[in-house]
Amino acid sequence: MNPIAFAIPVFFLLIAFELWVAHSRGVSVYRLKDSLTSINIGIMSEFSKAIGGVVSVIMYALIADRFGAFVWDVRHPMTWVSALLLYDFCYYWVHRTGHEINILWASHVVHHSSEEFNLSTALRQSSTGFLFRWIFYIPLALLGYPVQVFVVVGLIDFLYQYWVHTQLVGKLGWLEYVVVTPSNHRVHHGQNDYCIDKNYGGIFSFWDRMFGTYADERDDDKPVYGIRKPLGSWNPLWANVHHYVQIGRQVKTARSWRHRLMHVFAKPSWTPEKEDATEAFRAETFSRFDTPETGRLRALAFFATATGAVLLVAFFLLQKGLPQPARVAYCVAAVLALTAVGAWMTRSRMQAPQPLSQGPSHA
Ligand SMILES: [Zn+2]
Ligand SMILES: [Zn+2]
Repeated sequence: MNPIAFAIPVFFLLIAFELWVAHSRGVSVYRLKDSLTSINIGIMSEFSKAIGGVVSVIMYALIADRFGAFVWDVRHPMTWVSALLLYDFCYYWVHRTGHEINILWASHVVHHSSEEFNLSTALRQSSTGFLFRWIFYIPLALLGYPVQVFVVVGLIDFLYQYWVHTQLVGKLGWLEYVVVTPSNHRVHHGQNDYCIDKNYGGIFSFWDRMFGTYADERDDDKPVYGIRKPLGSWNPLWANVHHYVQIGRQVKTARSWRHRLMHVFAKPSWTPEKEDATEAFRAETFSRFDTPETGRLRALAFFATATGAVLLVAFFLLQKGLPQPARVAYCVAAVLALTAVGAWMTRSRMQAPQPLSQGPSHA
């Protein structure tokens, strides 16, 4: 049984709790279509991992069995502590390269595509990350950590990161020096100049201090969430592929092989004209993406996402008894249905758009 099945009700309960706390404080940190899109992206990610993620576990197990240098006692606490520390160190590099190498950013960009920041944002996970992320964890396999240790510490690292996606927890004193917190992760999701390429840690923030990528949240320059090239869509499939499509277009029109390679492997801010074409951020010109909606659209979109979550849990329960073609067909059908819902939400034109305030909704 996939442990995410047990985590899903907890995720939703904590979202309800965050909504309640925000309401009682009189602040608004959620927008329905944004959150439903985040959840739809999370559901799509789990379906894609159910099919493709097995590859990473198999590859890890093969390398650990064949080349693992040491034998680790899984009953010894130090096995788990050292594995978690090493996993988080590797995660730092997965995450850093996910921002600093264009083709890897194409996968990770989906996590940053929300212009809100709340617990639902944590669920905006990539559907393509399973293709390459396992490569970064080969050092653990070479050290011989058993595959079950790799899977469990990976799950701990993933689940830890859920709670740091909130605007309702302030700075946490000395903890900011040691672990990833809501405050230093808000910086990671900001598009302000001081936030770009900062705070890559998964559980521990000291990696960022060691490698010079740490930035504290500034009270005089609050993070404005989102990406410099906005997604402009509620479609979870487009959120996952839009940057790959852009790279494909750039490669197709590039004038030389050097440029083609740079479009794929250089920093996302690289252009043929400039090594770093990042422009200064201007909060006053930023406005969040929105589309018209009615009560009916909101109700239908909510119902569609709830159905998607139920179908995912049903899949986790049923998948062991299903033959592989049926599993693949179930996942493909779910991905297509989520895509249709997202496309419908984005294109729906039912009433005039409502003007939005600029910047974070609680500011
Ligand atoms: Zn990131
Ligand atoms: Zn995040």
